[in-house]
Amino acid sequence: AMLALTACGSGRDEGSSGSGSGDAKGFPANSLIGVALPAKTSENWVLAGDLFTNGLKEAGFQADVQYAGASTTVADQQAQITAMVTKGAKVIVIGATDAAQLSTQVAAAHQAGAKVIAYDRLILNTPDVDYYVAFDNFKVGQLQGQALLDGMKAKKPNGPYNIELFSGSPDDNNSKVFFEGAMSVLKPEIDKGNVVVASGQTDIKQTAIQGWKAEGAQARMDQLLTSTYGNKELDGVLSPNDTLARAIITSVKGAGKPIPVVSGQDSEVESVKSIMAGEQYMTINKDTRNLVKQTIEMVKALQAGNTPQVNDTKSYNNGAKVVDTYLLPPVAVTKANAAEAYANDPKLAPLTK
Ligand code: BGC
Repeated sequence: AMLALTACGSGRDEGSSGSGSGDAKGFPANSLIGVALPAKTSENWVLAGDLFTNGLKEAGFQADVQYAGASTTVADQQAQITAMVTKGAKVIVIGATDAAQLSTQVAAAHQAGAKVIAYDRLILNTPDVDYYVAFDNFKVGQLQGQALLDGMKAKKPNGPYNIELFSGSPDDNNSKVFFEGAMSVLKPEIDKGNVVVASGQTDIKQTAIQGWKAEGAQARMDQLLTSTYGNKELDGVLSPNDTLARAIITSVKGAGKPIPVVSGQDSEVESVKSIMAGEQYMTINKDTRNLVKQTIEMVKALQAGNTPQVNDTKSYNNGAKVVDTYLLPPVAVTKANAAEAYANDPKLAPLTK
């Protein structure tokens, strides 16, 4: 109780929240919990929806799980969050479709006394986010960058290596963090001249793929192959996730070129198959089951009137405050460790046999 009171007393929004009682009071065990997810831009989001629906019900809550639509994502998600507030949700878990466009909705959630948890993607420029739960996004980027270097070296012991860089959607805060993590590993090699971004496109703005869309990545790769790789060898491509990695590989194959070392993320079924077939080089295992479980632990703590456990209180400044965060560890996966990495995943383990 002391701990909860201390946390409450030091809370930034003391006095501005609806009830003024902070975390200490909790809420009824069968309360409504809202979960607002983005469009299904990768398999992890599809998995998360079912896991939240079932996991919250098992924990005794009522669950309202919504996805933003495929085209009008921002307006959809705003309306969904507003509806959750109106229905009296006690916690709203949000996988933001646009990090910077939710401040009005989360302010309204706080006004109504609900807690806000940013799930997987941080919500920016608002004090009205209570917690963030995600895999360590910077680490994801570092693992991708390192695997890219390792993979290229394994194929060809000495550089210089020609690479191209891709990043995710600019409205997703993770895109920047993944890219910065990867560049923290690649930049020293680029500065040494051992790695060359042959197109010259190294600025994140030049590398971004709006909406994490496969067709966007394929079109950009097509262009790069034409503009830069007429008679040059492409050794590696930094791809931020599996959906884009497969689109990049499709483009390269279509151009009749050898497949370069390509990174990925998410351990999507088709990419794990591609890795086992020796095409995509690596992916990241961010087991969605663990992320949803950790989020539901946070919800349970809030329900009981306790302060949820966090393990990072400095990395995620959202422009208005540093958000208390629980980070889970991502794992790099190549063909070499796939069987071990997916051993307890009933969907992926059979693919590695
Ligand atoms: C997630 C990635 C995912 C991407 C596209 C990101 O915010 O962290 O796992 O690949 O969104 O859906």
